[in-house]
Amino acid sequence: MNDRIHLTLDEVHRIATEALGAQGFSERHARAIADTVTVAERDECASHGLFRIPFYVKALLAGNVSPDAEPTFRDLAPAVLQADAHLGFAPLTLQLAADPLERRARELGIAALAIVNAYNVAALWPEVERLAERGLVAFAFTAAFGYVAPAGGTRPLYGTNPMAFAWPRAGRPPLVFDQASSASARGEIQIHLRDGKPLPEGWAIGPDGAPTTDPATALAGAQLPFGGHKGAAIALMVELLAGALVGDVFSFEASEADTARVGAPFGGEFMIAIDPARCVGDGDRDAQLAHAEKLFARILEQDGTRLPSDRRYRARERTPTEGVTIPKSLHDTLRGYIDN
Ligand code: NDP
Repeated sequence: MNDRIHLTLDEVHRIATEALGAQGFSERHARAIADTVTVAERDECASHGLFRIPFYVKALLAGNVSPDAEPTFRDLAPAVLQADAHLGFAPLTLQLAADPLERRARELGIAALAIVNAYNVAALWPEVERLAERGLVAFAFTAAFGYVAPAGGTRPLYGTNPMAFAWPRAGRPPLVFDQASSASARGEIQIHLRDGKPLPEGWAIGPDGAPTTDPATALAGAQLPFGGHKGAAIALMVELLAGALVGDVFSFEASEADTARVGAPFGGEFMIAIDPARCVGDGDRDAQLAHAEKLFARILEQDGTRLPSDRRYRARERTPTEGVTIPKSLHDTLRGYIDN
């Protein structure tokens, strides 16, 4: 453990905020990004924790990202709210969008959020979990850079295109899943590269189209969708929702436009929030949630199962008291951002 540094979650937040602030992000953006990085460390999602700070910094230093853009909001229809991130990173927009999106979902039963002009390298579970903690059902979709080959193809086209879903539970944290439509998130391949570990089979092909377990060859080639044509169809849907539908770019267009080598995907994010109480008759809300619990209980009756998000919630019981560890090399990088 000599090559790892122990941090409390407060220290995680502080070093992230200070590093981002020292490199030029406004206090509001630095705090919002630090919030998402800290909850990722808290939930032991290392590929979206402090590991991401150098991505934010490099993207900012490349010159296209706004360090201080204030998101603006516009009603496109009673149930469709547009948020323009004005070339800022997404976390601040997502934090500010939660209240107006919730209000519209409560009033109308269902509402959508169409984010445009955002840079995004974060996980999606924080935004859907935030809405489900308020009792809403939530979906989120975002595209990325063209990294993933279409089914049967050999060249990168789709993003790793995550989609997330959250379901509220009475007296418990929400059920949440958040998954890339590629066989792995790109950050996982970068972590395998950093740690000198081979990839599991089925994650990627090299530039020659042949399967590879070498992280560097995979990053130069193409990632594969999960589940062959089925994951590819999800990736396609995400491109359409987060790109064409909201009036923003597809993943391959984001890659082609990245002439400044920002290295952080740019584009749209689409969210849907549903008030479950508006989907059943009066007084049925308790029955609705209880019915869902029956399904969860049946899943958990089977050995070897767990619910999506339970791994994160178990980590969340430990890390506030035990803290987390990060590689010393990463800690040195973050200190360097602050001290130099
Ligand atoms: P994983 O494959 O690790 O996990 C996907 C989901 O499945 C999680 O909700 C996880 O829950 C759940 N899960 C895993 N194992 C089980 C199991 N045995 N039983 C039940 N549920 C299970 O995630 P990915 O690698 O696909 O994606 C990682 C992250 O990368 C996501 O947060 C995604 O948003 C992010 N990402 C972001 C991108 C961007 O451009 N912004 C691009 C691509 C990905 P749990 O968390 O509890 O393990």
